[in-house]
Amino acid sequence: MLSRAITPENKGAAKRPLSYLFIDFNAYFAGVEQHDHPELFGKPVIVTPLASEHTGAIAASYEARPFGIKRGTKVADARILCPGIAVMPARHDRYVAVHKLLMKEIERHIPLEKIYSIDEAAFRLSRSEQDPARAVATAHRIRQGIAQNVGPALRASIGIAPTRLLAKLAAERVKPDGLTVLRAEDLPHALADIPLTDIPGIGAGVEARLARAGVNNFMKLWNLQPKEARAIWGSVMGERFWHGLHGYETVEEPTKKSMIGHSRVLTREHENPDKARIVARALLLKAASRLRHYGMHSSSLSLSVRLRPEGGWQAARRFTYSQDSFQFLALLDEMWAEFCKSQRRKGHSPRLGGVTVYLHGLAKQGETALEQLDLFAEPQGVEKDARRAGLWKVIDTINADLDAKFQRLGGSREEGGPKRHVALASQSGLALNYLGAKIAFSRVPEEAEFLY
Ligand SMILES: [Mg+2]
Repeated sequence: MLSRAITPENKGAAKRPLSYLFIDFNAYFAGVEQHDHPELFGKPVIVTPLASEHTGAIAASYEARPFGIKRGTKVADARILCPGIAVMPARHDRYVAVHKLLMKEIERHIPLEKIYSIDEAAFRLSRSEQDPARAVATAHRIRQGIAQNVGPALRASIGIAPTRLLAKLAAERVKPDGLTVLRAEDLPHALADIPLTDIPGIGAGVEARLARAGVNNFMKLWNLQPKEARAIWGSVMGERFWHGLHGYETVEEPTKKSMIGHSRVLTREHENPDKARIVARALLLKAASRLRHYGMHSSSLSLSVRLRPEGGWQAARRFTYSQDSFQFLALLDEMWAEFCKSQRRKGHSPRLGGVTVYLHGLAKQGETALEQLDLFAEPQGVEKDARRAGLWKVIDTINADLDAKFQRLGGSREEGGPKRHVALASQSGLALNYLGAKIAFSRVPEEAEFLY
């Protein structure tokens, strides 16, 4: 190997040890299905958000990919491309349970740093494991542990690098079953071919700002100064990103839960406003149940509607801190009527592609903001809210309890689970499995979210 002169790029490589191991499970949902159904091991499998031929796959096993099937492929197309392919409706509570088993297994080898999503997490390498050969040996032990103690169907790509950002990029390099070590001295050349938008932290907005600054490839990004990055991002995030990319560890500030909500893609059966409204209400009921589960109160509700083939509509309402689902539903209905009116004015009979509801402005009882607002709220209002919140908490408990019993008896929630639950009459007849359990990989749903 050629010895390289010390340049601004590689100076201080020694101060950027291999500190993180990032693990990204490959086609995770499909892997869990293969794990639970051994007859599917090594076979083409897709996972769908619900049992419908009109939806697209949210995961495709690596065995399905040579047939041209990937995430997003429509079920009907997948059946043509690969006759006999296994089509499995998603079971999110199971994916959460297996996620916990996997984390527990990996934590036997190495301490957890941060969970990124249901199939991605960063772990910390100890000082004695920072030598590349030792780090690789640790990765092999983890992989063996997963295969032996959880199951061989759960395959993963592993990246090892000085920062979490670089370790994640390293894990992305080889799929499935990759193991990539990215040392400080391998930079920037090892990543020179990466498209900017493949880098976490560069979304469409940042990409556009980078382009305006003349930064359109990895080398130009690499050659920015920290101050320039800060100016382009318009915040300290740019500088933090620069450090992560260049292999310098920075401390992340703890984030506070700031909103609770759910999003749902609508199938053809639910695309008219009446049906979609019921879905939005169900999502809101779920969000409110989680709000109470966390012991939090909300002071604002937002609704956004995605239209087919394009466009959208959104609105929000502010209110005194509350945990009362009746109040939330009334506000949602108000916004929904506004939405319908706006569409009528345009002469549209809209087709809806998706709905999202969020409870924002969260606070816990005893927190300053909440207490201040209580001072201004009508005393009767506060009392009424507490009474109704109490009623809803009872409903939450009954539902959670029924669900636990149902599961102990070996029932699957896919077969009419929700029918056994306490629900509003206006919401009954809604056969939506795993309603509100977010399919996006952006966070790990908690098991309580599946109890309704
Ligand atoms: Mg993955």
